[in-house]
Amino acid sequence: MTPVTETLVGSNVEELCATASTLRDQGKGRIVSFSPKVFIPLTRLCRDFCSYCTYRQDPDDGPLYMTPEAILQVARTGQERGCREALFVLGERPEQRYPEAGIWLRERGYDSSLHYLHDMCELILKETELYPHSNPGTMTGRELLALKEVNVSMGLMLESISPRLLEAGGPHEHAPSKHPRLRLRTLRQAGELKIPMTTGLLIGIGETAGEREKALRAIGDLHREYHHIQEVIIQNFRAKPETLMAAASEPAVSEMLETTAMARIVLGKEMNIQVPPNLSMHNGDGSYLVYLDAGINDWGGISPVTIDYVNPEAPWPHLERMRRQMMERGFQLRARFPIYPEYIVDSGDYLPVELKRRLKSEADAQGFIDKTGNYFGNGGVEERGRKYGEHP
Ligand code: SF4
Repeated sequence: MTPVTETLVGSNVEELCATASTLRDQGKGRIVSFSPKVFIPLTRLCRDFCSYCTYRQDPDDGPLYMTPEAILQVARTGQERGCREALFVLGERPEQRYPEAGIWLRERGYDSSLHYLHDMCELILKETELYPHSNPGTMTGRELLALKEVNVSMGLMLESISPRLLEAGGPHEHAPSKHPRLRLRTLRQAGELKIPMTTGLLIGIGETAGEREKALRAIGDLHREYHHIQEVIIQNFRAKPETLMAAASEPAVSEMLETTAMARIVLGKEMNIQVPPNLSMHNGDGSYLVYLDAGINDWGGISPVTIDYVNPEAPWPHLERMRRQMMERGFQLRARFPIYPEYIVDSGDYLPVELKRRLKSEADAQGFIDKTGNYFGNGGVEERGRKYGEHP
């Protein structure tokens, strides 16, 4: 990946998109992937308060943590529907704010939420066909190393490179873990430990276009050094009722197109670039397809079983309709594991040996899901696709 030196902000958006699409075609062809997943909200407690968040809850709002039984039930239901990803999401170190969280953990022999997460990932690997992908917030090297053994990849959104957003009145004023320095440090440590990472930007929370480009370049610098950024998500902020940012403006489609195309250009033809389709559905059926013209090659996790707990108001697209609409535009939809194909088929050591062996035995020659879930690879759409297309 050669660094792009010239500034992209201010360029014509159509031209950016044309360049980005050409790069995507060169690096990824016309295959656009998704990950069939179940969403496991391990805990909705969180030490932090982000002004746009509806995921976090207080201890009185619901169960403190999902139990192993509840986790397995969701995972097995997902497995029955063809899912291969167990997406674990949790707030940032809740036990540091809520004594009851610490007591719940200690009563079960855990000293932290991350310790509990580790064992639940292990449980998934032992008892199901799913592969864990965890998003636990900022982590130390020791914590990353422990979780690497039971995850095929992990995620930490950079969100923004701007420390301004932590100032008084900013969306991260009460979320110290959102400081870009801390998040970049976790991403760097993951690189040192050869952990494939998902990261990305949250667009429209007060950052400038220049800061978006700077953030993409920071991600690119890390990837050039460690080759561990498996995907970059360009996610649009959605204003949600009953949050401090309920009345804030959402980013325009043109801003999303500009940033997505910049991501492709800055991060290169081999990077996996994702825009979550369910966050664009409010613009009309199939409106997310516009991001195919900005160089994306992935739609992220889509679930036939669980809602998007971070954006509960945003339903997943219907897969079979998505597949047809993409085909009309000359794209093929493929199912992938929560680790991207290149990390499965290459000879690198970004995965624990046993996990890589297991993935290789299940993936096709390109590294996509094949033998156990041939959704759209070689004509397997009818059975799986119909089954998968029925959303709750
Ligand atoms: S976005 Fe994440 S860190 Fe921020 S309040 Fe919600 S759960 Fe906590």
